[in-house]
Amino acid sequence: MMTSPDTPVAAAAAAAAVPDDRAGPSVELSIVVPCLNEQDGLPAFLTRMTAAAVSSGLTYEIVLVDDGSTDATWATMQAACAADPHLRGVRLSRNFGHQRALSAGLMQTQGARVLLIDADLQDPPEALVPMLALMQAEQADVVYGRRMARAGEGWLKRASAGLFYRVLRWLSSTDIPADTGDFRLLSATIVARLNAMPEQHRFLRGMIAWLGGRQVPYDYQRAPRAAGQSGYPLRRMVSFATDAITGFSMAPLRLCTGLAVVSVLIALGLLVYVVASVVSGSAVRGWASLMMIFLFFQSVQLLCLGLVGEYLGRLFMESKNRPLFIITEQTPRGD
Ligand code: UDP
Ligand code: MG
Repeated sequence: MMTSPDTPVAAAAAAAAVPDDRAGPSVELSIVVPCLNEQDGLPAFLTRMTAAAVSSGLTYEIVLVDDGSTDATWATMQAACAADPHLRGVRLSRNFGHQRALSAGLMQTQGARVLLIDADLQDPPEALVPMLALMQAEQADVVYGRRMARAGEGWLKRASAGLFYRVLRWLSSTDIPADTGDFRLLSATIVARLNAMPEQHRFLRGMIAWLGGRQVPYDYQRAPRAAGQSGYPLRRMVSFATDAITGFSMAPLRLCTGLAVVSVLIALGLLVYVVASVVSGSAVRGWASLMMIFLFFQSVQLLCLGLVGEYLGRLFMESKNRPLFIITEQTPRGD
């Protein structure tokens, strides 16, 4: 049941690192759990999560989001919610995907801090208390789980995830930390700002990194899935990676400009060869002019595509409607 707020961790709620934009959170902690076909794992998850939430000493709510499950996940949620007033269930009309399910849950929260956690017990619920303590000690806006090991995940998933984060960091100007997932603890302010970002293709860990503020890692061991199957087959992982890279980088659109430069250099080299062939008389009539036209227009075309890419990229970034900047603190105004 609800516990008294004068525990050490609860005291930190008052001393938030940044001012809170929202109209007074009504619980100290919200826990958001996206679920796709988790009927088998959910009861065990709820037992461990509830134990962790109770041991934090905070008043809490658990928001369960059913992301269009085709098994008995919703019925399981309904039964669990009926038995425990701390639980709330939200059911989406169809499968919207992990990131949107999380977003839907985030919009339902009322907590002064919000934990995002998977339902499959790959992220340990027991990490909650140390993460809260870290948030308090570091006066952090975000404590993000950083995976030290990925037990139960094949080498292909590990290698592709490793490569993905490195490429993303290289391409993007946002400092998106490597080896992290969506397992993280957020301040109410970060949640309010995140909820105000209207973009459709949501890559939450990138958006949270983009928001800035004080973000600190919490290292943990990622466990194997407790029950059920991963909702991220290869096709979804590729689309997720595409969302991340295109959402945070214009580099792919700039590829044409790079290719144009290479093409011009090759054209110049070949130009020398063409002229030499004509001078030495070894060239077939008409070959040189054809060659020149081909090389020239090939480069021009790539250059133009690159230019179109620059404008398209800007249009794309504009269409995201992100806020221009985030102010966390201000000095008092003197008159
Ligand atoms: N999930 C979801 N919608 C989806 C895919 C996954 O809500 O379309 C949930 C899933 O139930 C789990 C979490 O998101 O709680 C992480 O998904 P999963 O374990 O399948 O991903 P993985 O750990 O394999 O990357
Ligand atoms: Mg999982």
